[in-house]
Amino acid sequence: MHTKTIAQLAAGLRNGDFSSEELTRAYLDRIARYDDSLNSFITVSEEVALQQAHAADQRLKAGDSTALTGIPVAQKDIFCSDGVLTTCGSRMLENFVAPYSATVIEKFNAAGAVMLGKTNMDEFAMGSSNETSYYGPVRNPWNTDTVPGGSSGGSAAAVAARLAPAATGTDTGGSIRQPAGLCGITGLKPTYGRVSRYGMIAFASSLDQGGPLAQTAEDAAILLGTMAGFDTRDSTSIDEAVPDYTASLNADIKGLKIGLPQEYFNEGLDAGVGKAVEAAIEEYKKLGAKIVDISLPNSHLAVPAYYVVAPAECSSNLSRFDGARFGHRCETPRDLEDLYKRSRGEGFGPEVKRRIMIGTYALSAGYYDAYYLKAQKVRRLISDDFKQAFEKVDVIMGPTAPTVAFKLGEKKDDPITMYLSDIYTIAVNLAGLPGMSIPAGFVKQMPIGLQIIGNYFDEARLLNVAHRYQQVTDWHTHAPAGFE
Ligand code: GLN
Repeated sequence: MHTKTIAQLAAGLRNGDFSSEELTRAYLDRIARYDDSLNSFITVSEEVALQQAHAADQRLKAGDSTALTGIPVAQKDIFCSDGVLTTCGSRMLENFVAPYSATVIEKFNAAGAVMLGKTNMDEFAMGSSNETSYYGPVRNPWNTDTVPGGSSGGSAAAVAARLAPAATGTDTGGSIRQPAGLCGITGLKPTYGRVSRYGMIAFASSLDQGGPLAQTAEDAAILLGTMAGFDTRDSTSIDEAVPDYTASLNADIKGLKIGLPQEYFNEGLDAGVGKAVEAAIEEYKKLGAKIVDISLPNSHLAVPAYYVVAPAECSSNLSRFDGARFGHRCETPRDLEDLYKRSRGEGFGPEVKRRIMIGTYALSAGYYDAYYLKAQKVRRLISDDFKQAFEKVDVIMGPTAPTVAFKLGEKKDDPITMYLSDIYTIAVNLAGLPGMSIPAGFVKQMPIGLQIIGNYFDEARLLNVAHRYQQVTDWHTHAPAGFE
């Protein structure tokens, strides 16, 4: 069962080939058997899962099912889940059992999906390798000496190893696309405002966006259809109808204009990855697409601007974790100041502290104009680059990440090099655009991702473009050795 896509599993459930309880148990067994070597889950919610599976079986019998009824899904541990531990990868929330569910979780529940558990992630979603998690690093199932990417590394590793048919992630600067790329699966970061952020623990509020990770674009379309939608509880949620993302998957892409930004094929790109991406573009030409050379001239400013904006917003969002109102509390504080200092000192890991310090500095009086305001202006320039590009092309393509998965520990002590892992993904968040990563080959036996960037609210087109490629290639069907 575990080799099947959501679309196939849903058909199996409806035909009565197996029950949701059997399916759920099969995945729980795989998690018990394999996850020691990957560490992709922080919490396995077996009891909840079996209850939900039971309820789903009733719904299936009653003929009251959706495309996700009875389907097991792993949730990134950044989404608050009522009654289930929600840690955000941090010691700060080690004992936090959420008293309510995020809108995304509620939507999965309403659809009748089954929550297998909460996946490991970089602490507060800050990282590109899953090594900043308080719960230990996640390993990439394609080679357990390498990282799965981050921050949704647990979700990506779990789906790649077939420990879950699908998972959720969040993407602030690349955290859905980069781990999807490094683990050889399909990931979609929607337009900012498409998926509610209510109950999704905030890192950088103007950039954070939830989205699906799955084996195929078809599955991602099913998942996004459930996750997306206006939510009055999120003030940046956009009131725009949710289309049936599966309806246009097969649309012809003859004449599709694909923009290739020269800046995405520069000297920082691994030669093997570049070749694999070019081969994928060749496939698109065969499908009738037209290639247009474009330029996104401010691309080189994306990482520096992001590392002002994201830390600034995180320093403000994370101020609530003070040991008094929220989060870890130190033992026997001497006074209020000692309580703040020690609770935050003990609760946060080094990368989170680094970001809080950078952000607090950038926002402080006297530096605000020089850093934060400047970064916001650069952000506008980056958005304008994309705006101009989308006057000429329908989608933009390039690599998801500059290299294949790197070794655990290789970049851990070198934050700048680590930050460059997201060089091709970050600009998309600054502009608020949707982006996808789909498996597009292997370099030295490690998977690589093709990134597809779309215009605002053009998720249906991205999924269509990805699906057509997956019909003529089989990269998305490969499973890592030992996890088949
Ligand atoms: N790697 C980037 C960072 O560390 C992006 C993380 C994310 O998208 N959550 O901030």
